[in-house]
Amino acid sequence: MERSKYFEEIRKLARENTKVTENGCWWWIGRARSGVYEDKYCKVRFDQLFSDGTRKRTQFYCHRLVYFGFNEILDMDSSLEISHLCGKRRCVNPAHLLAEENTTNQERRPCHNNNACSDYHSPTCITEF
Ligand SMILES: [Zn+2]
Ligand SMILES: [Zn+2]
Repeated sequence: MERSKYFEEIRKLARENTKVTENGCWWWIGRARSGVYEDKYCKVRFDQLFSDGTRKRTQFYCHRLVYFGFNEILDMDSSLEISHLCGKRRCVNPAHLLAEENTTNQERRPCHNNNACSDYHSPTCITEF
């Protein structure tokens, strides 16, 4: 019960702090007014929920927090790397995020630089903007 409420809080936070762009990215805008369109990772302070039900204020990367919230994963300390299929670091759209190996994550970079995905990436990189 506590967990589902917690995950819902994360989803609410995401809805309230993002703007959907024309290409489907969820741009984290938060309270910032300027400099928000830079393609940089953003961070947010939010509670971490532990398996014993206790909470602790922690700083998260926005896209990691949203990924865990939407996928209802509590293991936030895990070494899972959360990749952006769209290559946009500020995007937190759960459909553009996935957990994968660092090497695969790194391999996606040329696809985004070239605006075309190499055919072996699964799921495919999102490069049509
Ligand atoms: Zn995106
Ligand atoms: Zn690719």
